[in-house]
Amino acid sequence: MPELPEVETTKRGIEPHLVGKKFIGSTLRRLKLRIKFNKKELEQIINKKIVSVTRRAKYILINFSNNSTLLIHLGMTGTLRISNSSKYLKHDHLIFHLVNKKSLIFNDARRFGLAQIILEGEKFNMLENNGPDPFELDKDWAYLYAKMSKSDASIKSILLNSKIISGIGNIYACETLFESNISPLRPGKKITEEDAKNLLKNSKAILKKAIKAGGTTLKDYLSADAKPGYFKIKLKVYDREGQKCKKCSDSIMRIVQNNRSSFFCPSCQQS
Ligand SMILES: [Zn+2]
Repeated sequence: MPELPEVETTKRGIEPHLVGKKFIGSTLRRLKLRIKFNKKELEQIINKKIVSVTRRAKYILINFSNNSTLLIHLGMTGTLRISNSSKYLKHDHLIFHLVNKKSLIFNDARRFGLAQIILEGEKFNMLENNGPDPFELDKDWAYLYAKMSKSDASIKSILLNSKIISGIGNIYACETLFESNISPLRPGKKITEEDAKNLLKNSKAILKKAIKAGGTTLKDYLSADAKPGYFKIKLKVYDREGQKCKKCSDSIMRIVQNNRSSFFCPSCQQS
């Protein structure tokens, strides 16, 4: 599943091909994605200048000069690529044509992703419900501390609660907790101010590393097979059940919390 680093990498990959350009037409092969693509608003984005490509949580926003936005979420299996071929692949659902036979293509095998045109002043609830991501929080650990310190939920489930903080995802939550020496089982209300500072700092460092790793594969974003960033960074606990901890010699454990695997070192990470 594309996590924040893959979404950011995708955004950076398509951005130089789009900013200052226009979509001159579209080929819509399938409208029914997670929600139906609202093609009746197409004229609001076709032949309108693209002024920026931004990211909010795990949404990519292509912003036009008339303040309309094409919002895209990659879901479980979605990809965006710039193509200069007129041959389409299986699951290429939405194609937005640029000049010089180039196009932006949204491909999604499982169709949990979505694309939606948002007009000026409109709100999109699925986006509005997302809390800030670690980069948006920047140094505001006090926000995290305030949310955590009144919660009985485990720190792991708080880090995965996108209403509180978005974009961390299961893999990076495990890695962040390991770097911070905090057990995934510890209740939010037992998090100290120092812990909150460390969690924010470490989550940003890990996500940055993954973005950097993903970014290096994307010098030329004309190919569709860029691998997610986490294939490129050395994970310290995720998917390492039974293997030796990188800090001590204990074995990494796996437990299931909220139907998701948590990997951690029972010696280094205190509950
Ligand atoms: Zn350890």
